[in-house]
Amino acid sequence: MTHNQSLFTPPMVDHDWLKKFLVPGLIAANPYKIDTTSTPVKLDQNENPWDWPDSLKDKIIAELRRQPWNRYPSAYADDLADLIGAQAGLTPGCVLLGPGSNYLIALVMSTFSKGALASGQTKVVVARPSFALYESHCAYDGIPFHPWPLDADMEYNTDLLPVLTPGSMVVFASPNNPVGNVLPYALLEKLASKYPDVLFVGDEAYLEYAKEPYTPLLKNHANILLVRTFSKTLGAAGIRLGYVLGSPPLVEQLRKLRLPYMVNLFGLVAARLVLEDSEAQQYFKGIVATGIAERDRVFHALTNLAATTAAAAGHAFKVIPSEANFLLLKWPDQKSCERAYRYILEQGILIRDVSRSPSLTGCLRVTIGTHEQNDLFLAAIQNA
Ligand code: PMP
Repeated sequence: MTHNQSLFTPPMVDHDWLKKFLVPGLIAANPYKIDTTSTPVKLDQNENPWDWPDSLKDKIIAELRRQPWNRYPSAYADDLADLIGAQAGLTPGCVLLGPGSNYLIALVMSTFSKGALASGQTKVVVARPSFALYESHCAYDGIPFHPWPLDADMEYNTDLLPVLTPGSMVVFASPNNPVGNVLPYALLEKLASKYPDVLFVGDEAYLEYAKEPYTPLLKNHANILLVRTFSKTLGAAGIRLGYVLGSPPLVEQLRKLRLPYMVNLFGLVAARLVLEDSEAQQYFKGIVATGIAERDRVFHALTNLAATTAAAAGHAFKVIPSEANFLLLKWPDQKSCERAYRYILEQGILIRDVSRSPSLTGCLRVTIGTHEQNDLFLAAIQNA
């Protein structure tokens, strides 16, 4: 196309025309939106603040040069999937890879809600507040759902679960974004045993920051699917790689709906390095440990601040304990929360305003950054 060529827009259609083709609710649903404001300090997306060292990037680039780019990569990357499975203690056929866990969560929800939708007897239950994608995917794919509210302490509480009929599905994150709470291992074990005909989908995106991975539960429970990602702890949000772990017949159904060739050469090469290269393993172990230490440091600093300075000024916020790489801060009212967000942004620090999400009025979420970034945030919030 030349620069002079004039551009055109295809004809517009109205909503009545579009509706003939779509699930009810899609047109009215809000599209995914992310604040693209560029700031010196970016603490809004729960990314790992440490990029990979050049020595590791060079190994990937050298391997990519050796691979043929004109050929399709492996259709499902089963070798890599089975290696991930083996490292988690599972036999082959228990892991499905995909381009980020976002996509896989949507795939799991769409695949395993169809029975519920057809029968009208069963439920899709979604933790709230939790990762916004669960609710938005339900809206996009026409999946009616029932929220599972956290209790007043922002913890998972099984007493608040909707009634679970056979064929229902419960989707939750642990550690939970944006709160940082977990569903304790023993509690998931209890639920999975009590409801053998209910599917529990545990999103473990922040697994490595938490104390209790669920993997051993897969040994005795076919009704648990776990979803994980390379995006957070492994500092690899850019490569887009996630995976589902679970019982082979469940993984097999997902595999039918997951299209072939979805993980590209770059993702395959980078993931193998993460899993097999000793320098990479040392590096990632180091950044997880530093991330956890920084989270705990920032949590204590914020707790002290909330108890002293902010309280004296009459706008104390509360810090929710977290097992992930972010912290949720809750102001007593929406106005002070918005004021704090604006002030922090003016200091060049972008955090996430989650205050308009269901059950999160007055809340902001801050991702744990490097030591320097965290100090800048702590200095900013002191005056917010
Ligand atoms: N699950 C949770 C709980 C998340 O917070 C996120 C990212 N914000 C994801 C899944 C998606 O991660 P990705 O698609 O990068 O694997």
